[in-house]
Amino acid sequence: MDTAVVWFRRDLRLHDNETLARALADAEEVVPLYVFDPDEYAASRYVDEPKTGPYRAEFVRESVGDLRASLRARGGDLLVRHGEPSSVVPSVAEQFGADAVYFGTHPATEELTVENATRSALADREIRVERFWTHTLYHINDLPTPVDDIDDTYTPWRKEVERNASVRDTVETPTTVPTPEFDPGEVPSLADLGVAELSVDDRAAVDPRGGETAGRERLQKYIWDDDNLRRYKKTRNGLLGEDFSSKFSAWLAQGCLSPRYVHKEVDRYESERVANDSTYWLVFELLWRDFFQFQFIKHGSDFFADGGIRGVDKRWRRDEADFRRWADGETGVPFVDANMRELNRTGYMSNRGRQNAASFLADVLGIDWRWGAAYFESRLVDYDVCSNWGNWAYQAGVGNDSRDNYFNVLGQGERYDSDADYVTHWLPELDGLPTEYAHRPWRLSEREQAEHGVQIGIDYPAPMLDVEEWYRMH
Ligand SMILES: Cc1cc2nc3c(=O)[nH]c(=O)nc-3n(C[C@H](O)[C@H](O)[C@H](O)COP(=O)(O)OP(=O)(O)OC[C@H]3O[C@@H](n4cnc5c(N)ncnc54)[C@H](O)[C@@H]3O)c2cc1C
Repeated sequence: MDTAVVWFRRDLRLHDNETLARALADAEEVVPLYVFDPDEYAASRYVDEPKTGPYRAEFVRESVGDLRASLRARGGDLLVRHGEPSSVVPSVAEQFGADAVYFGTHPATEELTVENATRSALADREIRVERFWTHTLYHINDLPTPVDDIDDTYTPWRKEVERNASVRDTVETPTTVPTPEFDPGEVPSLADLGVAELSVDDRAAVDPRGGETAGRERLQKYIWDDDNLRRYKKTRNGLLGEDFSSKFSAWLAQGCLSPRYVHKEVDRYESERVANDSTYWLVFELLWRDFFQFQFIKHGSDFFADGGIRGVDKRWRRDEADFRRWADGETGVPFVDANMRELNRTGYMSNRGRQNAASFLADVLGIDWRWGAAYFESRLVDYDVCSNWGNWAYQAGVGNDSRDNYFNVLGQGERYDSDADYVTHWLPELDGLPTEYAHRPWRLSEREQAEHGVQIGIDYPAPMLDVEEWYRMH
């Protein structure tokens, strides 16, 4: 074959990239292409927010820039276009007389709609497509049970996979990438994408620079330089700082890091340093990620129904004012508000925070969980459709677990933030309060409010409901 287009989607890397490697093996020249799809930056259909907010948009821009630099270092380049993939990809393929378009496939409705429209436009022009599955730890074709029949519950699924499947080797990173001459095009600015300017808060736990280079540096630092992997299971429920968990999520979500590469590095660490329950646990978490990817193939758009994949009949509230208070971190419940303010100012929230913020919205406020999922979609730098909607559905009791698994946000805050360092980091107006009050400021008497210089309802909101009473009743 003379020419193949390699359409990069959420696989913005050169290492362990089977799509690119196969195109390089099959064709004389490749045309690496990234398309900024305006639909990914359009308004959410659930909430008054764009689907992609500034933190993730900036991360994607940086990742695309880094991919371009890596391709240039190998004698190639990256063609960047802004428009609908179903018209841009075929027109690029035609322009270069390509025989085929190579790309990675992704589950979930919108991704598949884009993919199917692009495939059909390519078929009309008699251009072949080659699809690859490159974003999970276990390859979809290696699952012991066909994906449509997999267990809906994590633990039996995980055990079966651990027993009866193995992780494939990573694919070699290419040393040269021969591309024809082309006008590469500019990476669009945030303004071009219609995204608000980014504001960076110096209290952020991580400063996730997009791209494969930064992702690999983070892995090197977390696992090897700072030797954090040996204690991951003990620290992973932390809330403050860079190293309580890996922070690999944004790079995994855009495919700047391959999960198989992470797995390989964990293996190497286990043979060179230590193998313990922490080293295993990072892989265990990557399996959660896989689980949701495969669940989305199995259940498709049912994941976006208010009753979820189990068709749960629950009446959700759709109160916009209450939703806004939650979204803005103004509920008056510090553990929820601190997490939401961290999300709003940085694009990141810990797993513990996500579980609690989601539970508060869906369980305590009884608001449509999809509004929360859509809000996270807009704000998270590491947003991944399957991990986000799958975890939200799970937390709202309409997904992959039928147990009632609500979180008591007061108990959780006091347990995981026992000295209130986290809440006061994000809610400095509560700084200096005794821990008990920092988590339950409504208990301050008027005299104590005056003593500590905090007026509830003025410096910090009064709670939007009697949350202690709510937990007593449920
Ligand atoms: C309501 C809710 C929404 C979420 N939305 C997303 C999302 O959009 N994108 C996303 O990557 N994760 C999501 N998660 C999962 C999890 O919170 C994040 O992956 C994690 O906090 C990212 O930080 P980390 O990389 O330091 O994680 P680590 O603890 O270091 O875990 C390592 C990796 O394992 C994967 N992982 C860990 N926990 C989960 C999980 N529960 N489900 C799926 N994968 C997991 C991630 O890829 C993560 O990077 C969500 C969880 C909840 C409860």
